[in-house]
Amino acid sequence: MNVQKIHPAVDAGIKPTNEHFSGGVLRCHCAENQVEVKLAGQTMFNHACGCTKCWKPSGALFSLVAVIPKDNVSVTAHAEKLKVVDENALIRRHACTECGVHMYGRIENEQHAFYGLDFVHTELSEAEGWSTPGFAAFVSSIIESGAPASKMAAVRERLTSLTLTPYDCLSPELMDMLAVHSAKQLGTWQA
Ligand SMILES: [Zn+2]
Ligand SMILES: [Zn+2]
Repeated sequence: MNVQKIHPAVDAGIKPTNEHFSGGVLRCHCAENQVEVKLAGQTMFNHACGCTKCWKPSGALFSLVAVIPKDNVSVTAHAEKLKVVDENALIRRHACTECGVHMYGRIENEQHAFYGLDFVHTELSEAEGWSTPGFAAFVSSIIESGAPASKMAAVRERLTSLTLTPYDCLSPELMDMLAVHSAKQLGTWQA
């Protein structure tokens, strides 16, 4: 039977999180002069993402993306190769201009609920023990990247079997965080 592929890092089963993990180094896909980004700590909210903006390896239906406090992120080699993919996007994704891999995404809007968190792809690190993906976001958006709509039932079924509960926006926990932030700005927030 043909099992629906999602992303190379989860297709063969999800590797467990190491609770004592202390970080690692992300490297771009260049053969030499790789951009290196050091992550000084564990990531959070790792998930599969079906949006059209996140970087994913060729052939993958979804990206895998996690967040980490921006103070734990530092470019340690070849920063000169990095360029922001889209200056107008909320998340400023810093990509290697040679291989195209996104090394980190940063929110510069201090009013945003997720300000202070950078978006990273821990598959770019050789280290094992990064936080495991826990859900799938923006699942319907893979259609915008060319996935046939007729495949969606099989995709959602496979995500569910991998314990990556499929959502067509973010997970309820993250959507609530966004809404609480908005409510505080609107003055309607109640604890
Ligand atoms: Zn590169
Ligand atoms: Zn995305």
